[in-house]
Amino acid sequence: MKIIMLGAPGAGKGTQAKMISEKYGLPHVSTGDIFRANIKNGTALGMEAKQYMDKGLLVPDELTVKILLDRVAQDDCKNGYVLDGFPRTIPQAEVLEDALSKLGDKVDYAINVDVPDENIVRRMSGRRACVTCGETYHIEHVPPKTEGICDKCGSALILRDDDKPETVLNRLKIYHEQTQPLIDFYNNEGILKEVDGTIDVKDVFENITKILG
Ligand code: ADP
Ligand code: ADP
Ligand code: ZN
Repeated sequence: MKIIMLGAPGAGKGTQAKMISEKYGLPHVSTGDIFRANIKNGTALGMEAKQYMDKGLLVPDELTVKILLDRVAQDDCKNGYVLDGFPRTIPQAEVLEDALSKLGDKVDYAINVDVPDENIVRRMSGRRACVTCGETYHIEHVPPKTEGICDKCGSALILRDDDKPETVLNRLKIYHEQTQPLIDFYNNEGILKEVDGTIDVKDVFENITKILG
C-alpha cells in the first residue's frame, strides 16, 4: 500500500502518518524529517535545505526529488509506505508517478487532511517537536506526560524556528500556491480521499482507517 498525506502545514499529516505507519506496518517517510536530520548532522544537503526552510520556502524540486527517490528505493519500502510532506508540487508528483509506473506500480491513496487556515497558526504555535527523535506534540491537544520532555526518548521539546507565526503565514501562502493544486491532481487520478482534520486526533484516524480498511 502506497499512501500520500496531503494537507496544509500543521494539518496533522505527520501525526496521522505515524499512526498509519504503526497500524499497517508501513515505513513513515517524511521529507521534512529527512531534511531536519541532515541539518542536525551538518551535512551539505542539510545546509542547503535550511536556507529555504528557515524562510518558509520549499526546498527546490531537484534536491527534494532525489532524496525521496533514494529513500523509497530502500528495502523496507518495497511493500509500501506512507509519504508525509511529499509531493508538495505538481512536478514532484509527476516524478513520483513516472518512477512508480516504470516499476509497474502506482500510489493507492492520497489522503487530504483538511484544516482551514484560521486553525493553522494557532496549531503551529502550540506544536512542540523533539530535538532528538522528531516526535511531535501539542501543548494543549497532544501534551507530553512531562512538560517540555519527549515521552519517547526523554529529550527536550522545542518550538521549531519555522513554526513561529511570521514564517507560518509564509508557509501557508506557499501551500496554497504550490501544494493545494495536488488535490485536483489526485482527484483526477481517482485516488483522492478527504478527511476532516479539525476533529480529535483519534477520530481523524478512525476515519482514515475506514478508508484504508
Ligand atoms: P510541516 O509538517 O509543518 O508541513 P515539514 O516537516 O513537512 O513541515 O517540512 C518542513 C519544511 O521542509 C518545509 O517548509 C519545506 O521547506 C521543506 N520540505 C519538506 N518537504 C518538502 C518537499 N516535498 N518539497 C520541498 N520542500 C520540502
Ligand atoms: P503536519 O505534519 O501536517 O505539519 P502535525 O502532525 O505535526 O502536522 O500536527 C501539527 C500540530 O497539531 C502538532 O502540534 C500536533 O500535535 C497537533 N495536532 C495534530 N492533529 C491534531 C488534531 N486532530 N487536533 C488538534 N491538534 C492536532
Ligand atoms: Zn524524542
